[in-house]
Amino acid sequence: MEKFDIVIKGRFLISFKHGIIENGIVGIKGPRIEKIFKDGELEYESSQTLGGEDYIVLPGLVNTHTHAAMIAFRGLADDLPLFEWLQKYIWPAEGKFVKADFIKKAVPVAAAEMISTGTTTMADMYFFQDDAAEVLANIGLRSVIAEGIINFPTPTASNWKKQLDYTENFIKNWIGHEVIKPSIGPHAPYTTTPEILERAREIGEKYNIPIQIHVAETKNEVDEIVKKYGKTPVRYLDSVGFLSDLVVSAHSVWLDDEEIDIYVEKHVGIASCPQSNAKLASGIAPHKKFIEKGAKLGLGTDGDASNNSLDMFQEMKFTALICKVFSKDPTSCPAVEVLRAATLTGARVLGYYDLGDLREGYLADVITVKINEPHSTPVYNPVSHLVYAAKGTDVNDVVINGKVIYSDKEFKTIDIENAKYEFTDIVKKINDKYNR
Ligand SMILES: [Zn+2]
Repeated sequence: MEKFDIVIKGRFLISFKHGIIENGIVGIKGPRIEKIFKDGELEYESSQTLGGEDYIVLPGLVNTHTHAAMIAFRGLADDLPLFEWLQKYIWPAEGKFVKADFIKKAVPVAAAEMISTGTTTMADMYFFQDDAAEVLANIGLRSVIAEGIINFPTPTASNWKKQLDYTENFIKNWIGHEVIKPSIGPHAPYTTTPEILERAREIGEKYNIPIQIHVAETKNEVDEIVKKYGKTPVRYLDSVGFLSDLVVSAHSVWLDDEEIDIYVEKHVGIASCPQSNAKLASGIAPHKKFIEKGAKLGLGTDGDASNNSLDMFQEMKFTALICKVFSKDPTSCPAVEVLRAATLTGARVLGYYDLGDLREGYLADVITVKINEPHSTPVYNPVSHLVYAAKGTDVNDVVINGKVIYSDKEFKTIDIENAKYEFTDIVKKINDKYNR
């Protein structure tokens, strides 16, 4: 008789290793997946059972790029170009409102949005990240967290040296934690210097942690970097020795074939955010080429201020569709590759090599998706169903690191009414300031 802490049953299990398993069961012990088997194949006992015949069971989604606390700026300024949006609205609002208390009140609601739409791992770059990490550790959302480092004052610290000091302390505080992975976040080539990049790379390598950076998000940025350094952003980063398998390159929209090859050769992770890129008309990343060339491709929502959603199901569908339009090829970015980017490869982008699949020995980050609603039936192909028909709100249960975080659509680690109440406090201040 096999004993599990949790079993999760599904009409379909989605596994990149084993394929689609009908009437399958995931058996979890402690923080890891112990066994994947078919119903009736094994005698077992379990303290808890989730899922059933009305569910697809799959690895939790991995959001490789977001700014969780920016949930407070959702809808504050839409339909604007990136630099106007940043300079006129976002940076002034951040300067005025973003404090440790703001982070503590905004992050729980963003975490709730992510968990309730199936995200089990997210990569965050923002400010006061010690406070964010504490909130996220208590909630139990797996998070790769970087303090933003910029060549001008941030809400956390007045210059980049102090921001780096903060970062190193932050890393020491959290390294080795079961769900929090500290990371380092030199913001972008255009907001840093070669010296900052060099220091960030050294710290990343010293602690063997992800290095998050925004790269080639807009054509303007590419032109600016070419003017300043005589090279495109990827070639510039390569020339200063910055690129490695630790790098998480957010956006990566304006890459030519040779630059994609550089990324493949250096095993650089890509955190593509196609909805944010579309909304800000920044451009469309070459997803078809990323996949064909074997680039390490993950998907991200970017922050709520530019998306305006953290729902990875929306991101998956949009990625598949925009990829087909952009490449003029309806066979490009098939559902299985998009789902792989949103799970297994996304986990690799963030430096996890035992996460992102239903596989024995992998970390038990597992979700169930309901499939008996009018919009979600019938299901002939569960993979295409997840990418094209499912909604984030179809997520019913979320297990992270072997712990039930969300069950039957109820939060187990967030007092959601209290979190929403606290959040209204910061929203009111923003609202008053902008006189809406
Ligand atoms: Zn970003």
